[in-house]
Amino acid sequence: MSPAALWLPSITDTFARPLRNLRVSVTDRCNLRCQYCMPEEEYVWLRRDDVLTFEELRELVDIFTELGVDKVRLTGGEPLLRRDLPTLVRMLAQHPRVKDLAITTNGVLLTDQARALYEAGLHRVTVSLDTLRPERFQALTRRDAHHKVLDGIDAVRHVGFQGTKIDTVVMRGTNEDELVDLLEYGKRVGAEVRFIEYMDVGGATQWSMAKVFSRAAMLELFGQRYGRIEPVVEISSAPADRFVLPDGTVFGIIASTTTPFCRTCDRSRLTADGMWYLCLYAQKGIDLRTPLREGASREDIKSLIAGSWTRRRDRGAEARKELEALGVRAPLIQIEGLREDPHLEMHTRGG
Ligand code: SAM
Repeated sequence: MSPAALWLPSITDTFARPLRNLRVSVTDRCNLRCQYCMPEEEYVWLRRDDVLTFEELRELVDIFTELGVDKVRLTGGEPLLRRDLPTLVRMLAQHPRVKDLAITTNGVLLTDQARALYEAGLHRVTVSLDTLRPERFQALTRRDAHHKVLDGIDAVRHVGFQGTKIDTVVMRGTNEDELVDLLEYGKRVGAEVRFIEYMDVGGATQWSMAKVFSRAAMLELFGQRYGRIEPVVEISSAPADRFVLPDGTVFGIIASTTTPFCRTCDRSRLTADGMWYLCLYAQKGIDLRTPLREGASREDIKSLIAGSWTRRRDRGAEARKELEALGVRAPLIQIEGLREDPHLEMHTRGG
């Protein structure tokens, strides 16, 4: 296919937002239990039989690319728990319309898998890392795996990945005293650090506004330590606002809680069992597994996706922010609701 034949315009929603960015959760299972994501003792899991095969995932991604998707991010749960993930990576990396194929991982299993992922054609890796202190990591994640994550980040660098990012969820009273250390660590390992405000997503049952360390607070802290912080001026739909330190170091802040960016959001999310969500905060998804397995034609599935996207009006983070002004902002979904429908969990829809 010539490059011109490959290019397809994206469909757009009611706010003219294109369908470009697909986050594919490959499993709802995770090997950590982070307080901000999976604080409970017990979880209801997706039915194993419902989890899409690699061929099914490829088929859906292929249809999405015909409607404009050109960025795919594998996530989870913990994506590296999905058996034989490099095979899926190879299948998607060969897709001529997928321009950016990335993964978000907690890094625990990266040392073993970084080379295979690189050789399979994965473009970029984002590792979640909230602390440089092993005992704090253990308290935050309820697992003793800090050294594995740091080794995993080293492995990513050594096998040759470029554009590595580190995602840090910042919680007041938990890790806001480590932001400078994490930024300095990012410099040492050649990764851009992105600080994420603690979000009131499904699963964050212990969320409260008091635990949010805001973008404004982060910028003030960095300003005190480094001096003048300049915004990086760019036109982008990426969730992070990027900033540059006087020494040229660039970092990002994802401020969905205090400064939502629904207006430019081109992301949607596919769960491991084929439910498609048009917003991280959406309570209802669109079932793509059933038509796929019942033999619906490609055109039918494409129309289902296109029709849903063109009607999309979601602006979930902005709607949450409006609740704050009314003084009623609290966890999005209570534990009973999460047990009834695990699709509402952040670890199911992939963050
Ligand atoms: N297991 C992988 C990982 O840890 O990166 C991928 C899945 S995880 C759900 C994806 C992202 O969601 C991570 O960067 C995680 O930190 C973020 N996340 C989960 N709950 C969050 C919350 N309440 N607020 C902000 N970010 C959250």
